[in-house]
Amino acid sequence: MAYEKGSRPMRKARKKVCAFCVEKVETIDYKDAAKLRRYTSDRAKILPRRVTGTCAYHQRELTTAIKRARQIALLPYTND
Ligand SMILES: [Zn+2]
Repeated sequence: MAYEKGSRPMRKARKKVCAFCVEKVETIDYKDAAKLRRYTSDRAKILPRRVTGTCAYHQRELTTAIKRARQIALLPYTND
């Protein structure tokens, strides 16, 4: 299964697993800016699940945590 059919060469598909599930985190700490920052882009935007591999449940938790962190100025809204 090295190449997919068609013209597009297949990217090495490494199975991504949700980092929060691995750590068995149930609630994401919005005060942990260092961790939250890993899930935002260089423009301070929240990275989509397909990039980080975060599961639906934790992505939702993460989004809330990041938004909370923004309100208390731990994370920027935009980064320009
Ligand atoms: Zn998860």
